[in-house]
Amino acid sequence: MAQQESINLVDFVKRFPNDNACRKYLFKMRWPEGFKCPVCGNGEYYLLTKYHLYQCTDCNHQVSVTAGTVMHKTKVPLLKWFLALFLVATDKRGCSALTIQRHIKVNYKTAWLMLHKMRHAMARQDQQYLLDGLIQLDEAYFGGPNGKQGRGTEKAVAFVAVSTAISEDNQAIIPLFAKIKLSDKLSMQTVKDFVVGAIEPGSKITTDYFGIYNSLNDNGFKHDKYLSGSPECNQALDWAHTIISNAKTFILGTYHGLAQRYLQAYLDEYCYRLNRRKWVNQLFPRLLNACVSSSTFTLAELTG
Ligand SMILES: [Zn+2]
Repeated sequence: MAQQESINLVDFVKRFPNDNACRKYLFKMRWPEGFKCPVCGNGEYYLLTKYHLYQCTDCNHQVSVTAGTVMHKTKVPLLKWFLALFLVATDKRGCSALTIQRHIKVNYKTAWLMLHKMRHAMARQDQQYLLDGLIQLDEAYFGGPNGKQGRGTEKAVAFVAVSTAISEDNQAIIPLFAKIKLSDKLSMQTVKDFVVGAIEPGSKITTDYFGIYNSLNDNGFKHDKYLSGSPECNQALDWAHTIISNAKTFILGTYHGLAQRYLQAYLDEYCYRLNRRKWVNQLFPRLLNACVSSSTFTLAELTG
C-alpha cells in the first residue's frame, strides 16, 4: 500500500513533475484494483480528457479523482495541493498559511482553507481509533493569547488523554497515542462524553483526585487516582503533563493569535503529528491518504 512509502524531496520532484502525475497517483490510490463506478460498480469508463473526468460506460456517471475528497472541486491545481501536503507533512513544527502562500503561490485565504481541510482530514483519521491500555487523563487550559482581551480570547478547557506502555527494557513508561478534546465545561457528564468517545472500555485510567473523574468506574473503566499535586500524582500523570506543555508550545510557535473557534483543529493537528511521530518519513503519503478518504467542506461550513 502506498501509505507505507517514505518520500523525500528528491523522490517527490521525480514522481510529481506535473498535475497529470498527481492525478495518476490519486487514481491508483482511489482505485487500486482499477476503476470502479461509485454509483453502479461497473469497471469501465470513458476518459473526458478536457475536464479530467471518468464517465461510467454503463450508467454515464461522471467522477473525478478528487470527488468526495478534501480536494473536491478545488480550483487549486493538484500539484500545488501535493506540494502543500508535502510541506505540511515534512515540517515537524507545522506550517502556517503564510508559509504555504509563499511556497505555492496561492492567496492567503486559499492557503488558510487548504490547511484547515488538511486538519479536518487529520482529525477524521484519528477519530477512527480509541486509546487503550494504561491511560493518563487530565484537563488543561489552552488559548487566550497574551495581552489580548475580549470575546474569543478566553482560555478554553480541554481533556487530554495519553495511552502509555512500559518500555521494552522495563525501565520506563513511554507514551503511545494521545487525544485532546475541548470541552464547554468540566463536569462528570463531560468527562463521560470524552472518555466514551476516546477510550476503549475496560482500559485503566489514571487521574488526580478531581471529583469530576469519580464516575469512571461506573462507566466501565478501571480508575486509579492520586492526590493532586503530590509527587506520586505528578509521576503518574507525567506524560499527560508533558503533552499538555508540548501542545501549548506547538500552538504558540506556529500559530500566533489563534482564534478559539479553530483551536480544536490545531489540537487535532498536534495529536495527529504526535501519534505518527514514528512514521515521520511516511507522513506525506499518509496525509494524502487521509485527505483522499475524508470528505470536503466549504468555507461557509468552517466559519459558520
Ligand atoms: Zn456507473
